[in-house]
Amino acid sequence: MEVVVASGKGGTGKTFVASNLAYWLASRGMKVVAADCDVEAPDLVLALGGCSKVLYSKEITESKKAEVNRELCVRCGRCVEVCSFYAIELDDEGYPVIKDFLCDGCGACALACPARAIVLREVPTGKIVRCVSSVGLQVITGDLEVGGRNSGHLVYEVKEEARRVLREMEGEHLVVDSAPGIGCPVISSLSGADRLIIVVEPTRQSLQGAKRLLEVASHFGVKTYALVNKAGLGGSLGVDIGKMLGVEVISSIPYDIKVVEAYAKTTPLLAYASESPAAKALLKAFDRLAEVEGL
Ligand code: SF4
Ligand code: SF4
Repeated sequence: MEVVVASGKGGTGKTFVASNLAYWLASRGMKVVAADCDVEAPDLVLALGGCSKVLYSKEITESKKAEVNRELCVRCGRCVEVCSFYAIELDDEGYPVIKDFLCDGCGACALACPARAIVLREVPTGKIVRCVSSVGLQVITGDLEVGGRNSGHLVYEVKEEARRVLREMEGEHLVVDSAPGIGCPVISSLSGADRLIIVVEPTRQSLQGAKRLLEVASHFGVKTYALVNKAGLGGSLGVDIGKMLGVEVISSIPYDIKVVEAYAKTTPLLAYASESPAAKALLKAFDRLAEVEGL
């Protein structure tokens, strides 16, 4: 089963949930692959104890950047006018200079250039790393280049690699730590998934994000559960989160200092403090999943 753990906004604890879910499934004797699709800030492998052995690393080159041939350039400035990303400025001599970190590779400048002085060159989008974590899990991580574009495509590549590894291992479950929000990387994370767990905090911002994420998930027809994290922190919102979202809340995890300690020690909470209140709430969620989904 492919389970995606996502949240409508960052910082709600989806990596915490994804890492513990993968660890829990593996501790029940199942073959599991964990995929980090939060390619702009990947930290799933850290939450699973860190990387003990890198099996391989692949560079993915899908992005493009504009490049100017000054010998052909007639300094007309047309490229500056058409660039919607403000990625070109003229130097003191009137030649265009491309700011790589802003260039989207859209090609508008190359099309507009009367002297055919601009070409698009391929640059790395990021890399995919397969490693074994310190707690023995196979982890596939996507790592976007700084200033890199096309993160949705990189997520697609990470998931394809994770599915390939799962087949190779004759494994049972793929746990995906999605990017936050509702953008292109999240859509790639959800594509083809069997189940979605939305991690939500009891705050209006988080609930708003979760509702938007649910709208995206409804297009994919993914069966969805909610998991409330940091329950009780800041008081009650006075709303029934399950009713508001229209999905089953499988557990509410209280704020627990053991979660912070486990995070600092880069260890899944279930391995670090299995008797803590937060760990018990996590186990309640996973037991409920096992009951409903027959895991
Ligand atoms: S490729 Fe697009 S984003 Fe990049 S410099 Fe040209 S017009 Fe701007
Ligand atoms: S459009 Fe072409 S010729 Fe004109 S400034 Fe840009 S690169 Fe030079």
